Amino acid sequence: MSQTLQAIRGMNDILPDDAELWEEFEHTVRAWLAAYAYRPIRMPLVEPTPLFARAIGEVTDIVEKEMYSFTDSLNGEQLTLRPEGTASCVRAVLQHNLLYDAPRRLWYMGPMFRHERPQKGRYRQFHQVGVEALGFAGPDIDAEQILMCQRLWDDLGLDDIRLEINSLGQPDERARHRTDLIAYLGGHANQLDEEAKRRLHANPLRILDSKNPVMQTIIDGAPKLIDYLGEASLKHFEGVQQVLKDAGLPYRINPRLVRGLDYYNLTVFEWVTDKLGAQGTVCAGGRYDGLVSQLGGKPSPACGFALGVERLLALWCDQGHQHDKPVPDIYVVHQGVADNNAAQRFAFRVSEGLRDTGFAVQLHCGGGSFKSQMKRADASGATLAAIIGDDEAQANEVSLKHLREAGEQRRVAADQLASAVGAWLYGEDEDGGL
Ligand code: ATP
Ligand code: MG
Repeated sequence: MSQTLQAIRGMNDILPDDAELWEEFEHTVRAWLAAYAYRPIRMPLVEPTPLFARAIGEVTDIVEKEMYSFTDSLNGEQLTLRPEGTASCVRAVLQHNLLYDAPRRLWYMGPMFRHERPQKGRYRQFHQVGVEALGFAGPDIDAEQILMCQRLWDDLGLDDIRLEINSLGQPDERARHRTDLIAYLGGHANQLDEEAKRRLHANPLRILDSKNPVMQTIIDGAPKLIDYLGEASLKHFEGVQQVLKDAGLPYRINPRLVRGLDYYNLTVFEWVTDKLGAQGTVCAGGRYDGLVSQLGGKPSPACGFALGVERLLALWCDQGHQHDKPVPDIYVVHQGVADNNAAQRFAFRVSEGLRDTGFAVQLHCGGGSFKSQMKRADASGATLAAIIGDDEAQANEVSLKHLREAGEQRRVAADQLASAVGAWLYGEDEDGGL
């Protein structure tokens, strides 16, 4: 016997109970984004590999070791399953010249792929909601994006997510800091771990992000980027903070918040919870003014963030969110012995008629006795059962039975059925119709 095939490690099936929870989440997310006038965009899951190398940076976790890259066997092109959405989104915006007349607020939702060690909150196929504002230069949009996150937490009823912000300044400010940082870390080379040594000249800022406890003292004493910011960068950072303060939104400036991707400048932020163990960052983002020109476009400022859907859903459930399984309004059972299959054919007509009126109908398929069909009807969670035998089909009537309350079943003429069902479900006036 052949072995049953399994999904790839770190890539999860989302089964119906969970998939319905995801849909509920997505519904909330769509309404939230519409409230801030963001419009949807959908990009392919596969992109040319150089897009990510160019956008994210060669010396980053993602490009160095996390990408699913392969050669297209037909034409030899280097392709990659997208590890994040910002690069694709900017590529699409440039390709279709979307920034020609006005700035854009865009969002997308979907799977991302990274070859990481799977663990709770960290998967190889995971999902993000990405939110990007392109063509906006001032701190107002950064602040609005941060505030909108807080609204989503409120809409979902999530507590205990705290905000950390930082400013990465501009490239020239980073360069000066970088020189000093390399000199400082180089002076403590014997205390650096292997990864830090490797990164010392390639991406020293990332060393500050290291979780290795042995290096914490040396990291604490390192030159701080914020001390290298010029007037304009500081003013931008203060502009963001002003809006947060006006809104009464608490935040912490974390000078070690540097983000894993190269394209950020000025504002960066993360929303973090202590409730999910090591994988506590549920949302991360910031400004990336250099990316549009880096990908070949006319320079244009931009700011965005991504939500980690799996982590937010885990938090939502941990905090007591219950998802009610949707149930049909009515389950239609039918059985007949007449040669012409009259009961089944009538059951189809009745079911479609009820759906025309807007009811959710589960039509029994697969045959079986009335008794076994009624068991299915009960298990479906439907409020009502419509029962159809040869007798009903002949008379153009349906027997209705309440499945959740005691009481007699009633015969109803087919043309009165929708209003009778409405009356039973919602207590509406039967004559008034629906
Ligand atoms: P981390 O430091 O946890 O690896 P990151 O900096 O690589 O995160 P981003 O690229 O900023 O993450 O992605 C934004 C968000 O997407 C993260 O804050 C997290 O919520 C989620 N995320 C990132 N990688 C994964 C993953 N492998 N599995 C599940 N969620 C993820
Ligand atoms: Mg990562």
